[in-house]
Amino acid sequence: MSAAAVAVLRDTQRILLIEDNPGDARLVQLMLDEGGEGGFSFSHVGRLADAWGPIRNGLIDCALVDLSLPDADGLEGVDQLTELAPDLPLIVLTGRDDLDLAIAALQRGAQDYLLKGRVDSGLLSRAVRYAVERKHAEVALAHQAMHDALTDLPNRALFLDRLSQALAGTRRRASTLAVLFVDVDRFKVVNDSLGHVEGDRALVTLSKRIARVLRPGDTVARFGGDEFTVLCCELVDPSECIAITERLLEVIRQPIDLNGAQVVLTARIGIALGNDAVAAPETLIRNVDAAMYRAKEGGRAGWLVFDDEMHKRAVERLETEVQLRRSVAAGSFLLDFQPILHCDARRPAGYEALVRWEHPQRGIVAPDNFIPLAEETGLIDEIGSWVLREACAESMRWASGHGGEPPFVSVNVSGRQLSGSALLTVVAETLAETGLPPGRLWLEITESALFHDVDSTGLTLHALRSCGVKLAVDDFGTGYTSLGNLKRFPVDVIKIDRSFVSELGRSAQDAAIITAIVTLAHDLGLVVTAEGVETEEQRRILCELGCDYLQGFHLGRPGPVRP
Ligand code: C2E
Ligand code: MG
Ligand code: MG
Repeated sequence: MSAAAVAVLRDTQRILLIEDNPGDARLVQLMLDEGGEGGFSFSHVGRLADAWGPIRNGLIDCALVDLSLPDADGLEGVDQLTELAPDLPLIVLTGRDDLDLAIAALQRGAQDYLLKGRVDSGLLSRAVRYAVERKHAEVALAHQAMHDALTDLPNRALFLDRLSQALAGTRRRASTLAVLFVDVDRFKVVNDSLGHVEGDRALVTLSKRIARVLRPGDTVARFGGDEFTVLCCELVDPSECIAITERLLEVIRQPIDLNGAQVVLTARIGIALGNDAVAAPETLIRNVDAAMYRAKEGGRAGWLVFDDEMHKRAVERLETEVQLRRSVAAGSFLLDFQPILHCDARRPAGYEALVRWEHPQRGIVAPDNFIPLAEETGLIDEIGSWVLREACAESMRWASGHGGEPPFVSVNVSGRQLSGSALLTVVAETLAETGLPPGRLWLEITESALFHDVDSTGLTLHALRSCGVKLAVDDFGTGYTSLGNLKRFPVDVIKIDRSFVSELGRSAQDAAIITAIVTLAHDLGLVVTAEGVETEEQRRILCELGCDYLQGFHLGRPGPVRP
């Protein structure tokens, strides 16, 4: 915490009385002398203008201010004091017996008020101590709200605030500023291998090193987990920020001693320059984020400056985002259904629901081209809920059209949906609304989403499963999961990725992998579906290898099927 936030409560409170009536001033001094037992030192000025000197020099712990001064009447004095000395505890004195005025003073930032003529020394000294403590608590809270608890660096909110102020400054002074976005490479490895305590220590070390490289007046903030942002103001030449960037990369690379291990971390830095032309802080943050991602993709230098090409792509992305938002509001999505057949059956046992976006200009857009954006922007929650409702309702419609059991319907769920508890509610509501038996709903989660955040997804999965819903691991074999790991998750179905299927008949290895997956899955009591079956030969082999269900163009393409 900064010095301001933890300023120690002194034994002797230095009181400044701002009061033009010498008689009243004398009275206050007497009361303080009597009540304080040496706990107060007292000074007195008759005009607000004379108060600034001692306040600015940090000589005052608490101000008592009269509400009718020759150079400030009523609340004016309070307003000026709270503006120019926001951290100074303030008590107003009013002789007018005017409670409304006193309360207005509290609302404008004073800590307490005293009515002249109704004060005694005990009341006065208690009021002072209380005002000082209360102000300290307020300052500490305000500090907490604007700083990161681990590193005590400014947090995202404070950084954005400083950035918008600095941008306004460039307009006045016609100067340039730079925002650097520092992302530590593979920081997760440190956390996973050495534990969070050491991970936290590494972040603190990095934050200190970064702060040391900066010039006075620059700001470094912790933006998120292993992300730092730096604001360099008033650059004479934009190339100055490259020099700072190079030095940052260098200090980050110095080994860090973590529990005896010498850990070497590297980072990527995105840079965006800001001036009059880029007015909004959000734009600048978006630009610098894009630059950082590009720096991560390639770029041996470890840093990259946001340029026009990136700008073009950022604009495109923004346009797509805007359009996607509109489409979510308008409900411009479709579902295709692709049949899933049991190995020795001719009729589908169920269907996978696959979402499509009806774009007003681009026509039907495939999910791979908008789901990632929907995930990033959070729109996936709404799209996902719609898909779920529509899919369950469709399955019930088939059932009522044909009599008998509804087919199962398999719905893709993205990792982001799993990390909150909203999915659980939506699933429960949807089942209740549509009347679909829970066992007829399968939820597909890709292998990578499943293992991305084991702790948080695990809970949701267990809860979903106890509703009776079936869980499937999608695209199995493309992630890094060892087969044995599957035991840790409450899943029912494994969908073997189509990349293994496509080589069947040509690659003995893929047949061996599929055999291994099927054997283990069956041992664990799981059901196996093979995706991407395109030929009769593949179908035959997969059945021989013991797969339970098949899905692919050979058996039926996705479409608006009404069986
Ligand atoms: P997925 O879950 O693996 O879905 C199967 C994809 O493979 C579908 O592509 C399907 O059209 C395609 N496919 C099926 N059979 C064959 C075949 O025999 N050969 C080949 N080459 N491809 C086949 P689609 O519809 O473009 O969906 C792509 C991905 O988008 C899906 O992969 C899924 O991960 C995601 N997705 C689709 N709908 C949703 C949704 O509602 N929510 C979420 N979160 N993701 C979705
Ligand atoms: Mg799927
Ligand atoms: Mg799949």
